[in-house]
Amino acid sequence: MTMREPAHELDNPTFRLAVAQFDQAAEAMNLDPNLRERLKLPERSLIVSLPTRMDDGTVKVFTGYRVQHDSARGPSKGGIRYHLDVSLGEVAALAMWMTWKCALAGLPYGGAKGGVRVAPERLSRGELQRLTRRYAAEIFPLIGPDKDVPAPDVGTNAQVMAWIMDTYSQQVGFAVPGVVTGKPLSIGGSLGREEATGRGVVYVTLEAMKHLGLEITKATVAVQGFGNVGSNTARIMAEAGARVIAVSDHSVGLYNAKGLEIPELLRRYHTNGHSLRDTKMGDWISNEELLELDCTVLVPAALSEQITEKNASKVRCRLLVEGANGPTTLEADQILADKGVFIIPDILANSGGVIVSYFEWVQDAQRFFWKEADIRDRLHEIITAAFHRTLEFSKAQQATMRMAALMSGIDKVAQAHLARGLYP
Ligand code: NAD
Repeated sequence: MTMREPAHELDNPTFRLAVAQFDQAAEAMNLDPNLRERLKLPERSLIVSLPTRMDDGTVKVFTGYRVQHDSARGPSKGGIRYHLDVSLGEVAALAMWMTWKCALAGLPYGGAKGGVRVAPERLSRGELQRLTRRYAAEIFPLIGPDKDVPAPDVGTNAQVMAWIMDTYSQQVGFAVPGVVTGKPLSIGGSLGREEATGRGVVYVTLEAMKHLGLEITKATVAVQGFGNVGSNTARIMAEAGARVIAVSDHSVGLYNAKGLEIPELLRRYHTNGHSLRDTKMGDWISNEELLELDCTVLVPAALSEQITEKNASKVRCRLLVEGANGPTTLEADQILADKGVFIIPDILANSGGVIVSYFEWVQDAQRFFWKEADIRDRLHEIITAAFHRTLEFSKAQQATMRMAALMSGIDKVAQAHLARGLYP
């Protein structure tokens, strides 16, 4: 029996989006039908129950996932998300995008993703640490520097990575820094990893602006999400000379037509409980309004499926740079293309994170650490080369940037499968 539709346990809107994008690209590139079946589904999916002692003495059981989509080109790589909406289907979609992203950038990795269905902001530090250690212990058989290497994603950070690294190291009896990336510097983290995704977003934006004949100093920028990706994107865009007119987080959006004072905003955000609402800078706008602002560059950097058939016709940016994974639905893609919006797709735009994670993993393996300037230069070289390869391919194939990026990534993965053959 062949399985034409995703297995029902994976079925959710984000997984359907990832599979629909894959199908479109596979069709356009005439992908071998056997490989097409194979690459639609993840290689391996693990669901774990995580009993966790809460501070009041009760035990709560959380659900966690780790999905490895493909490992034909090397160890699988992908972040861990802590969010109440996490599901097997969402994690599987994110794992699939990681496969294409790593291949597109030319990194020797497959794709994976993990997640726990939890609202981390509602846990104490102790509860978060116990939950994380139990999760790390449960996924222990699947991860390792040569097998599968997690990193931060929504709701996780360097501290969570440190607890995972420690739990793994305790199990094997010696320190294994290379089991995760996005770690603190003190245990083998890399300079430049924290800001890497945002820096990559800015590097590809600058290349796209050159291509479109736009100038960064005349550009206005709106950023949805003010976490790792959004806040670093806003800061580095401002440093590059752009006017950042709006930012938002889950609580509120801030708008100032003259440009927000990003360094002061960041200072207030970090001292006022990590909420934009309490920074009192700019006028309040909703997340929906932010997406519809008249601006040069719009960067969704929060969650998936934010630009849909409902609001795409109201999007007024010239350039859409996808900091988040999967922020645009297929229907919205078509509407934006008809409006002439230039899209830098997620698997290209936000690949700075995994590129510098790769540098971190290489430094851990070599036990030799690089200067920050070298990291920035190498990130710039890899991501701008990927941008130009994608642009040239999109022109040659008369395809959108998204389809060109997907086709290039999928082709590299397909070549690896064809070279290795089917086991047994
Ligand atoms: P994060 O947890 O650091 O920040 C998420 C931000 O989104 C927060 O500011 C939060 O308030 C905001 N947010 C949550 N729900 C929202 C909503 N409904 N509307 C508006 N804002 C909302 O997460 P992050 O690491 O910055 O990840 C953001 C996106 O970037 C995700 O799609 C993630 O998969 C993607 N990404 C992250 C990395 C990385 O290195 N961290 C790399 C590549 C892609």
